[in-house]
Amino acid sequence: MISVSTKLEDLSWIPRPRLLALRRLDIETTEDLLTHFPRRHEDRTEFPQFPREETNVSICLCGEVIKTSLRRFGGWKKIFEATLEESQPNALSEPLVCRWFNLHYVQKMIATGQRIVVFGRPRLRGKRICIDHPEFEVIENDEEISIHFRRITPIYPATEGLSQRVLRGIIYRVLHEFPDAGWQSIAPNSLVHGERSDAIRAIHFPGSWEARDAAREHLVLSEFFAMQMLIASRRFESSARAGQAHCGSGALLDEFLKGLPFELTAAQRKVISEIRRDVAANYPMNRLLQGDVGSGKTVVAIAAMLLVVEAGYEAAFMAPTQILAEQHYEVLRRWLEPLGVHIALRTAARQEESGPLPLFDLGSARVSRAGDGGAPSRTFPEVDVALGARYSRPRVPHFEKAWTIYAVTIATKKDRCLSPKARTTVLNSLRHFHNKRYEMFAACVMPDHVHLLIQPWPKGGDDKANTSFWRLSELVHSIKSFSAHEINEIENKNGSIWEKERFDRYVPSDRDLQEKFHYILRNPWDSGVAKQNEDYPWVWTQNDESRKERLFRRDTETSMGDACATQTNEPQIIVGTHALLYESVSFSNLGLTVIDEQHKFGVAQRARLTAREPAPDVLVMTATPIPRTLTMTIYGDLDVSKIDEMPRNRGKIITAVRDTSKLGEVLSFLRTQFEKGRQLYVIYPLIDESEKLDVKAAAAEYELWRERLHPFRCELLHGRIPASEKQQVMGRFRRGDTDALISTTVLEVGVDVPNATMMLIENAERFGLAQLHQLRGRIGRGEHKSTCILLSSSQAKETSAKLAVLERTTNGFEVAEADWELRGPGDVLGTAQSGLPALKIGDLKRDADLMRRARSAAMSIFEMDPRLDLAENQRFRRLIVEQQKQSFSHVS
Ligand code: ADP
Ligand code: MG
Repeated sequence: MISVSTKLEDLSWIPRPRLLALRRLDIETTEDLLTHFPRRHEDRTEFPQFPREETNVSICLCGEVIKTSLRRFGGWKKIFEATLEESQPNALSEPLVCRWFNLHYVQKMIATGQRIVVFGRPRLRGKRICIDHPEFEVIENDEEISIHFRRITPIYPATEGLSQRVLRGIIYRVLHEFPDAGWQSIAPNSLVHGERSDAIRAIHFPGSWEARDAAREHLVLSEFFAMQMLIASRRFESSARAGQAHCGSGALLDEFLKGLPFELTAAQRKVISEIRRDVAANYPMNRLLQGDVGSGKTVVAIAAMLLVVEAGYEAAFMAPTQILAEQHYEVLRRWLEPLGVHIALRTAARQEESGPLPLFDLGSARVSRAGDGGAPSRTFPEVDVALGARYSRPRVPHFEKAWTIYAVTIATKKDRCLSPKARTTVLNSLRHFHNKRYEMFAACVMPDHVHLLIQPWPKGGDDKANTSFWRLSELVHSIKSFSAHEINEIENKNGSIWEKERFDRYVPSDRDLQEKFHYILRNPWDSGVAKQNEDYPWVWTQNDESRKERLFRRDTETSMGDACATQTNEPQIIVGTHALLYESVSFSNLGLTVIDEQHKFGVAQRARLTAREPAPDVLVMTATPIPRTLTMTIYGDLDVSKIDEMPRNRGKIITAVRDTSKLGEVLSFLRTQFEKGRQLYVIYPLIDESEKLDVKAAAAEYELWRERLHPFRCELLHGRIPASEKQQVMGRFRRGDTDALISTTVLEVGVDVPNATMMLIENAERFGLAQLHQLRGRIGRGEHKSTCILLSSSQAKETSAKLAVLERTTNGFEVAEADWELRGPGDVLGTAQSGLPALKIGDLKRDADLMRRARSAAMSIFEMDPRLDLAENQRFRRLIVEQQKQSFSHVS
């Protein structure tokens, strides 16, 4: 009897090449196979007549091949044509021509006399009705016709080496052999109707379209429910973590508010009180603050930080770009230094006050000297019983943050024992990726296993939007493949060397880290592989004397308690960029982290911050309005506060789309504004700051604008200008010494100059809606009316639809919904960013309502039983572990 976990290779009837093709799709068990859902279904109950005209939609047709031909064109290119005739042709029937360009395998599959089913959009080509590149399926024998035809037929995502027909046949047979009661339901009965097994059957081979839809709803709800359980577990787990109350009396805050030149809006006051409640509680705050550009989030952040500072803790304020960090630094100094609060700036390029504080003291590297580590160690695998289970039990991080420092153990195959030379090779490969893909803190290569302590690095540069990180599985894989070949060469052997990875664990606290660190460094001696007093050359740590003394200072240092914060010279607020994360800055006493403009930080980075214990309070701020469905997923583990009101003194922003040919008129309008003393941003279309900037092109751009705007003064700003110069350019603009800033999108977030009331965006069609909205947020910050001009020379329909949205509204949420409408969710929610498992069937946009239902079901389970202790909730526990594995740890 087969079950969900039956391996396909144990079903004797699936031929090996098919198994390999399936494996390429990550399909190894019957469950994998049966949750490989159809991409769509075709109604093959009966086929329509061949069309005589073009249609707007794709249709599914069946016919007999009466002629094939292969023609060449343009030298080496080929067109293969198959002409089909209807099954029951009549006098009016037209043949249908199917064409494939340069797909030589098609001609091998189709021959005259065959019956084939095609799916595609018929078009008129000359006098003939043609479908170019249709999907097709050859009807081979009539025996299996009941599987593939005369029904609503599933169409699966295509794969190499596995035709629709073969895949469908395998799924059909497995479903047939599968017991009715084989599926445990995922979601509770209050959420879904019917049995999972029925839904699975019906999604593949539905009896009717209604049955298909019902099955889909069941499966989508189950999938969303599983996802929401993971999110809810993160949420409840983090509120159950050790946190601390970080809240002062509020006197400092009151003083600050008194000094402000404006009254807080009601929305700001409401949000501050929400934050205050969290900060004063002894669970860690995890709060998202949404507020459109210009709604005044910075003031709220400052309020939160002051509460924390007053209680004697440090606060970190992180911005996505250097310009923004520097701007925050200036603002904070101006406002807070009079109150006696010490502020430091730390960015990658410049550090005021002391440099970055290291998180680790790594001791000295051990001297290498020859030593033959002969026999396999006894720590592995016997350590299971001996040294305590904590280092050996395959344990999946459960109810924990996705991303942190990892202690990893990689074992060799049972019969493989690494020679000293091979161990050196392994150590070298470990070091090869150090500071490239991960930061490695310690490593130890034993004859039959390797321990390492690593923290994954972001892929690509620091300042880029949407940073993603190396995943643990990728890292382990690169280490293994990097070393394997060479080891085989050294040892004159063949075959695989490494076990499938099974051992990984996150390091949840500094104390745990310290233990693992010492464990790794002591391992050869403790296990008896090396004698005491003898060197073991394959132990490695970062050897950096300057990092000494700092190790684990959080553990040893007692909190500052109620020491009056304002009397210390240590910085109390540290402002910085991502560097605050990547450079392992340690805070002795971190109480609150504020992350500004979260859309530039991934979930992984957020997790990195909160991995420590006691967990600091975290306030995430975003101006990127994201539709509600997405908030429920990407930020589903956070509490949400909203500033839904703009400060009253705001001038209106008028947005106008203009064709490039109208530049002359636009310029004369700009001049009238200059004469009133207003300032201008020109955004030129170098979209991605990482795009290699041709300095010459930038200079040309600048020259052009200088001429156009003469005699008004302009300056150039882009990402490659050295930081100190950038700072000066911004300073001159802020003071009004320059009238116009010609800039790339480095301006995008946060920059705040109220007198700048004009913005001109060149080639606006090249930017996304969200980004344009962000850019536009730079103006309309003072009391004057502002104007945003979107220059575009594109006539495309999509472009005008997109830009019209901005003309229509300045409300960020409306922009976001429209964006979502125009683009779809794919771009907005990358799985890597979300830290959630990929969806197999649900569609965030189309199924928003189902997501809402799934979320409330998951939340109510956790509300009643936050630790999932009840017997009936045990299956949800397993579900979460499953989800967790899929989302970030493919190692296990
Ligand atoms: P964002 O939410 O986009 O980060 P900021 O915090 O930069 O917005 O605020 C934009 C501008 O509005 C700043 O100059 C800030 O001083 C000002 N501001 C903030 N709150 C108020 C308020 N309640 N009334 C008037 N101006 C305010
Ligand atoms: Mg801001």
